[in-house]
Amino acid sequence: MAPHPYQHIQTALAQWYRINQRDLPWRNTRDPYKIWVSEVMLQQTQVNTVIPYYHRFIARFPHVHALAASSLQSVLKLWEGLGYYSRARNLHRAAKIIVKKHHGVIPGTAKEIKQLPGVGDYIAAAVLSIAFNLPQPVVDGNVKRVFARLFLMKDPVNHAGSHAVFVKQAEALMDRTMPATYNQAVMELGALVCKPNHPGCPACPLQSHCLAFKETTVGDFPRRKKPKPLPEYALAVGVVKKKDKILITRRQENGLLGGLWEFPGGRIELHEGPDASCLRHLKNDVNITAEIDTFVTRIKHAYTHFKITMDVFTCRFVSGRVRLAGPADFRWIRFDEIKAYPLPKANHKFLPALRKALKP
Ligand code: SF4
Repeated sequence: MAPHPYQHIQTALAQWYRINQRDLPWRNTRDPYKIWVSEVMLQQTQVNTVIPYYHRFIARFPHVHALAASSLQSVLKLWEGLGYYSRARNLHRAAKIIVKKHHGVIPGTAKEIKQLPGVGDYIAAAVLSIAFNLPQPVVDGNVKRVFARLFLMKDPVNHAGSHAVFVKQAEALMDRTMPATYNQAVMELGALVCKPNHPGCPACPLQSHCLAFKETTVGDFPRRKKPKPLPEYALAVGVVKKKDKILITRRQENGLLGGLWEFPGGRIELHEGPDASCLRHLKNDVNITAEIDTFVTRIKHAYTHFKITMDVFTCRFVSGRVRLAGPADFRWIRFDEIKAYPLPKANHKFLPALRKALKP
């Protein structure tokens, strides 16, 4: 049989990986459930951030049955701070499907696993290759960066239209005799050596194959499309006080931050003051008439596609019975009970100031 055209690269990668791979908790298992959880967490989030979340998640939900039997709120609470909450919601929904439809066994084919909520090409390839050793190439940001430099690929790595080109290259380079090692090795090389800034070319196992290194153009790759500036929105939120309780609401499950709890509020309209906006949202969204008590603080937060400035007020309850127009649920709680509820990161930013403002 003719040798694989990229055999030298494959061998160099595998040897390097065996010696240099990090000892990460999900690397000590072939359990598809644990690998699936880790890969979902690792999408969009740095390894060091993921590790404690992974440990807590697996301790609480050691298998898919435990996850399927849990409440969405308990999953979101464990996910709190990790961001991209649709990942947690999809994981939870998928666990229920796996138990119901697949008798608790993570599907081992691309067709079946991709039917699960939140399982796209990347997660499917990662789980199938790492847990089942199937030749499904993974293509994430690390892989694209390595390929762009190794093969002088000019396609912008942050453009959806060029994804297929990188997938094609990944399929060509894939070592079909040991897909689990190959996929993890490329990603690990991107994470540890072929880093975005200051790649460690002198120590790179692929240096002699790398076209960008040969041409001394490493700094020109990967190519990126200039991202558009993020839009900014001004929001006002009101913490309504009624005796020793405050009002919190839960977001609808679909959409940004779905299922998380927050304080009622929303966008400030053009020519509207933040305090007036706050009272308008209280009236419109939860049917509460209130008065502004104090301005607590202003916080800023950046999401992937936009930024927000949020003005936070405490408000005195005047009248009304909560009727929801927008939120999915509500609770009147004491401030110290809030830690039981999963909140968006932006809300956590103002909790210390709110605690002070609520002190009698
Ligand atoms: Fe990346 Fe440098 Fe290795 Fe090329 S030689 S793959 S640029 S680290």
